[in-house]
Amino acid sequence: MPELPEMEHYRTQLSPLLCGQRITGVIVNRPATINEPVDVFTSALIGRNILFVERRGKHLLFHLDDGHRLHLHLMLGGWLAYGEQGPKKDSHFQVILTFGDGNSLYFGGLRLGYLHRITAKAAIEQMKELGPDPFDSRLTVEAFQKRISGKKGRLKTTLTDQRFLAGIGNCYSDEICFDAKIHPALAVSDLDPTAAERLYHSIRKVLLEAKDAGGYMEHPLTPDDTLTGGYNDQCRVYDRKDEPCFVCGTPIKFETLTGRKMFYCPDCQKGS
Ligand SMILES: [Zn+2]
Repeated sequence: MPELPEMEHYRTQLSPLLCGQRITGVIVNRPATINEPVDVFTSALIGRNILFVERRGKHLLFHLDDGHRLHLHLMLGGWLAYGEQGPKKDSHFQVILTFGDGNSLYFGGLRLGYLHRITAKAAIEQMKELGPDPFDSRLTVEAFQKRISGKKGRLKTTLTDQRFLAGIGNCYSDEICFDAKIHPALAVSDLDPTAAERLYHSIRKVLLEAKDAGGYMEHPLTPDDTLTGGYNDQCRVYDRKDEPCFVCGTPIKFETLTGRKMFYCPDCQKGS
């Protein structure tokens, strides 16, 4: 599932392409992807300008000039493409938005994911459960240490809890724990302040590196895009079961933790 780096990559790439653009065409091939009748959705969007694109955790909010938002959550398998022509037949995409400059934004793989047209008030309501963004300037080391000190459960479960921090999922929680040299199944109550500080820096470092490398999405965003998916080959533990640790050579271990995949180096990562 796309996480903060993938969605932030989309936001930064799409913002200059979409902001100020007027929506001139709407195709909905899968009505279950949207939240209102197709004719209502379509007529409400035609003629609207996109003002800017906001990211909250793993969510994207396209701000429209009538005060509404298009709320996108890609969930598992969702992806985006942009250009004059889609990389596959139009029928392959659940929704397509076309703009005044002739380019279109293609929403693919939205089986569980969705694109909802909502009011600004509804957007605030739907996002209020989310924890702070890992890059929120108010989330200092001290604020993070305080925030995590009261938590129960395992570290991976806490890191992937969107109410704790917004935007981290299965892949990056493992990469962050590896970077911080902490076992992902460590009880959070056993995390000392020094380890919590290390974790804080690893969260920002790993997410930023991944975002700058283009995240791990498989599909290019535009026909000449060579950046998207650049992080795919840079994961150090995720999806590397039995492969040697880049630091110590020990085979990477795979387990499940409350239904979630968990990859770690049993030698480099301590604490459990
Ligand atoms: Zn190792």
